[in-house]
Amino acid sequence: MPQADGLRVSGPLPPGSTIGILGGGQLGRMLALAAARLGLRCHIYSPEPESPAFDVAAVRTVAAYEDGDALDAFARAVDVVTYEFENVDVASAERLARRVTVRPGARALAVSQDRLTEKSFLRDLGIETAPFTAVDDLGALAEALDALGRPAVLKTRRFGYDGKGQVRIAPVGEPADALAAIGGKPAILEGLVRFSREVSVIAVRAVDGAVACYDMAENVHRAGILHSSTVPARIAPATAQQGRVIAGKIMEGLDYVGVLGVEFFVVGGGPGEAMTERLVVNEIAPRVHNSGHWTQDACAVSQFENHIRAIAGWPLGPTTRHADAVMTNLIGDDAENWSVLAGDGEARLHLYGKREAWSGRKMGHVNRLVGPRATRSGGRPV
Ligand code: AMP
Repeated sequence: MPQADGLRVSGPLPPGSTIGILGGGQLGRMLALAAARLGLRCHIYSPEPESPAFDVAAVRTVAAYEDGDALDAFARAVDVVTYEFENVDVASAERLARRVTVRPGARALAVSQDRLTEKSFLRDLGIETAPFTAVDDLGALAEALDALGRPAVLKTRRFGYDGKGQVRIAPVGEPADALAAIGGKPAILEGLVRFSREVSVIAVRAVDGAVACYDMAENVHRAGILHSSTVPARIAPATAQQGRVIAGKIMEGLDYVGVLGVEFFVVGGGPGEAMTERLVVNEIAPRVHNSGHWTQDACAVSQFENHIRAIAGWPLGPTTRHADAVMTNLIGDDAENWSVLAGDGEARLHLYGKREAWSGRKMGHVNRLVGPRATRSGGRPV
């Protein structure tokens, strides 16, 4: 067993150790597959009996995230805990953290699961975001619209994902309707960012503070859901460097261990625009990220393996990219095409084993490599 100093695991977890993962979706499934390759076992904790990650896990717990007894038993059964989605109750993560090492820590969860806390944290670090104001009622919304102007985007502070929990407020249109559309929940109003494209960086930080970044991906969303990620992104080298520096700052600010996804808007730099190209952070995800799935087939070591390496206290693997890549999500009935994709020699097919498809549900993804060619830009430390 590794030597523990209090709850801090002081050495790398040896093969045969057990990693606890809160959440049983496709991200947990791909983390467990990556862990297995390194001889590490995964114990998945999820309230859903049909969780995709259960199929590939050594041990499973089906229990609510607020079930104290189940959390305590989970803590006793694993050597380190991580999570694969950010809506785990912070109190549950803190309860676990009193019993076992949790990486990334509960603070990363607390910061990223509330858009107001997240944007305030970024602002305090001097990182640019969309202009924003907290909105708790109609009066506050009217004031915020006066201050930020229209169009604007109203978003629930919590539990928003894949475009859910947000509504655009047009130049004409009733603020009351917008507030009703998000269920009257505590919210923030964001000024509309006029961006030329959306990009993301997947970064990883080790226990010793070493940081590595994958090359930036250019992301296209459809109906609020990620459709494709293309690497390399069409951005200037200085913009890519800005993204790496921002990711490093965020991870240092959170004393972070593991993989972090940062989504950006690219602004400025267009013809006739006074400002040079720069990045504005849209949101951060304290976990492996959909826009990093291309790393499974185009990089020496994927985001999943690097997350496992980081939380297990192992050295990071190279983030070097050996080919250009396009990742396309298979959403809803897209995955019915699996036999054609399976026969397509250019397509690397990943399916999540979900029994039922419904509109907007992520069922799998396909990575297509272009090249292959070596690049020296990935993996450069910040
Ligand atoms: P989010 O759930 O915050 O990631 O938002 C989903 C998508 O809505 C983003 O990927 C953008 O395409 C768009 N969006 C969100 N916030 C803004 C904003 N403040 N300005 C412009 N577009 C936005």
